[in-house]
Amino acid sequence: MKFAIFLSCFALLACLEHFYPRRLIVQAKTARWGLHFFCLGIFQVFVIFLPALTSLEMARFAMAHQIGLFHWLGLELGAMTAILGLVLLDLALYWHHWLFHRFQWLYRFHRVHHSDTALDLSSALRFHPLEMSLSLLYKAAVIVVFGIHPIIALSFDFLLMIMAMLNHVNWRWDPRFEATLRHFIVTPDYHRVHHDRNSQRLNLSFNLSVWDKIFKTYKPYVYEDDHKIDLGLIEPLPSQTVGDLLVQPWLEEKT
Ligand SMILES: [Zn+2]
Repeated sequence: MKFAIFLSCFALLACLEHFYPRRLIVQAKTARWGLHFFCLGIFQVFVIFLPALTSLEMARFAMAHQIGLFHWLGLELGAMTAILGLVLLDLALYWHHWLFHRFQWLYRFHRVHHSDTALDLSSALRFHPLEMSLSLLYKAAVIVVFGIHPIIALSFDFLLMIMAMLNHVNWRWDPRFEATLRHFIVTPDYHRVHHDRNSQRLNLSFNLSVWDKIFKTYKPYVYEDDHKIDLGLIEPLPSQTVGDLLVQPWLEEKT
């Protein structure tokens, strides 16, 4: 079911960015999408060997053994605990992203995502499989520590999947609408600032944009300055094949 929802959202957003593109992308779409879907495919192979670590399974485990803050406090599933759980997971994800930019050994994996010299819907799939696996472990630990209910964990996974596509989509929005929305959630323009090679440690939020303001990592998006945003790494990769992306963490350090 998750894959069907993913494909439906992907197809819808693909149509929107095709008919209403935000920026011109010169790279061939088939090559970009092929590369990025391959990254996702490799990770899915990893997941086959780690089924017990998925958010849902970890949440079920925490509930079955009554482990985690929510269970210890006796908080039943309700509207307030659902909102609290989703917000806590989003906050945890902000710090996850912060860590992957703060520590060089983690950034080596994350820079695979940042080495993209354009941004479109498929960029949401472009992560090194080991980064995705580490993220899976991190999220599993957070779910157990807080004792997140399985329904909340599953809902967050869906939200994250949709928001990741929405953050990267190359779909032109009304500037006033986008300017209002970015006060609350991460929009494509907001997230593009994070992909500027000169401001990668800023705009680290994934879903709610408030974390950047609280933790002082916020950089405003200025519509008139969009052309100054330079996507990718300071030293771009000479080529971008599947092999290049997979070995990138072990190559000479590039920022
Ligand atoms: Zn990043």
